[in-house]
Amino acid sequence: MNNKSEQLTLIPKIYCSLFGHDYQVTKKVTYHVKEYTCCHCKKQLTTNSNGKLIELTPKFKEINDILERIHSKRMMRLKRKTITSSIY
Ligand SMILES: [Zn+2]
Repeated sequence: MNNKSEQLTLIPKIYCSLFGHDYQVTKKVTYHVKEYTCCHCKKQLTTNSNGKLIELTPKFKEINDILERIHSKRMMRLKRKTITSSIY
């Protein structure tokens, strides 16, 4: 029984090593930084400051959370600005 379930969890990894990962955007952090998850093996990637794809480690998750907070704050401020400038 145990062996069978172990084999089942290995299948997505074998699939990915044969056909490559199938990444889908799971989170938009900023315009340039996104988080990706492979829909087969659940491997996570993110864009780093150089625009390259790297593995999403807990440290990068933390950085992305901070980036996202800064980004959304900036967007709110921008929205407010455009609203007031359209009024006046
Ligand atoms: Zn994969």
